[in-house]
Amino acid sequence: MVSRSPEKARPRPRRADDSEELGALGQPADAEEAVEEFRYQVEDMDEESSASGSEPPGSEPPNDGRPRPTVYQRQLDEDLIDPDAAKVVRRLVRQGYEAYLVGGCVRDLLLERRPKDFDVCTNARPDDVRRLFRNSRVIGRRFRLVHVLFGGGKVIETATFRRAPDAEEERGSEDLLIRNDNVFGEAHQDARRRDFTINALFYDVDRGEVLDWVGGMPDIERRAVHTIGKPLVRFLEDPVRILRAIKFSAKLDLGINPETYDAIVEARKALARAAKPRLFEEILRLMREGAAHRALFLCYETGVLDVLLPELSTFLADREEDDDRVWQLLQEIDRRTLENGPLDDVVLWTVLLSEPLREACDGARDRVEMAHEFLEGVVDRLNVPRRIAESIRRIVALMPRLESGRGGRFSRTPLYPVAMEVLDIYRAALGDAAEGAFDAPEGPSDNAAIAGTGERRPRRRRRRRR
Ligand code: ATP
Ligand code: MG
Repeated sequence: MVSRSPEKARPRPRRADDSEELGALGQPADAEEAVEEFRYQVEDMDEESSASGSEPPGSEPPNDGRPRPTVYQRQLDEDLIDPDAAKVVRRLVRQGYEAYLVGGCVRDLLLERRPKDFDVCTNARPDDVRRLFRNSRVIGRRFRLVHVLFGGGKVIETATFRRAPDAEEERGSEDLLIRNDNVFGEAHQDARRRDFTINALFYDVDRGEVLDWVGGMPDIERRAVHTIGKPLVRFLEDPVRILRAIKFSAKLDLGINPETYDAIVEARKALARAAKPRLFEEILRLMREGAAHRALFLCYETGVLDVLLPELSTFLADREEDDDRVWQLLQEIDRRTLENGPLDDVVLWTVLLSEPLREACDGARDRVEMAHEFLEGVVDRLNVPRRIAESIRRIVALMPRLESGRGGRFSRTPLYPVAMEVLDIYRAALGDAAEGAFDAPEGPSDNAAIAGTGERRPRRRRRRRR
């Protein structure tokens, strides 16, 4: 395992085998043993095994060969449950279907956090759901699901249970990457196809019961991120899950189960094969949730950053005297996010890349050109949209002017407040050390940057004559 453990501004790595932390959360004294025992339990919980299941009170044990969930009586806080989501579930149940709240909302409710949004899953097919809710529409071509629409733009995503594809059916034998996961299934199969145990809990709204087919409740209690099934396989099937594990650990302050953590390290190179727009979006999500500092540190520590943003990880490794600045900047992003909500995407990307960018542009006369060269690799690797890449270039090129209060014409452009926020973050995070951070000789490209005409701007395509 990579361990470049920091002392000062750096967060502690989050592995769930940290017995001190688990102890502090009221876990058994021998937390390591508890994690071991749980791991054993999860691996043994294959689809055939129903021994770990218990029955909902008052119901007959179904004798249909289906695995039974462990059922936990939990009256989740009604005030935190979206009434429209509960309405969708109840109407489906009244019509004789199975329906539950599922995924992130159940996880967040159990962790006593306010969920961002609510998802419903059901055995009703999309057309049946569509028929029951006039204010709904079927979306998706590969996997059809229903958006039930409510006032204020609220959407309750209602999905039919689906199952993971069989190995021979959907995938090549050597390549684990899932390309097609659009097969309808049953509740227990839907639980198992999900990524992490804490994300696969179903909540029965009327009975006040959590249904657990994958050992999610013990993980909620021990606050651990743990894949369903073998971590390495699950990460190779969909490498973006690596970033999701890091996101949940960082934003929910959870540990990562040791085997899951080691698989992240082992599978990290597979991220290079993931769809670039998904990577771009997931990195933004790591930065948007008020835990950018912890998330990026985990990326660094696991070696994930070497794959996604080697420019930044090399800077952190080579410039030990300066790397605290990066963590301090990320802490400032978190402080602002928690206070006022997520920052502009351009601000997030510019700050994330600013220190290595600054190093690359240091002393260069043509800062736009240097910034362009630096960003080329990042843009290719992550499909950074042109609008964002161009904005980062201009902001970095103009920083010296902004620092000395010479915004000029640029101060009348829409990018100006964005650039000023980057500067504010620098000043708030680094104090005096921010002064002159971008000091540089004025270069020939300054005017181009003000006008938003970087040298490498693609030529406009000629209109074709008819
Ligand atoms: P957040 O609060 O960040 O939205 P979430 O758990 O709701 O967290 P979503 O991306 O909204 O995350 O996904 C909803 C659910 O879909 C997850 O809880 C998980 O069960 C399942 N899921 C999402 N992405 C994957 C994936 N890559 N592989 C397997 N299951 C996934
Ligand atoms: Mg969600």
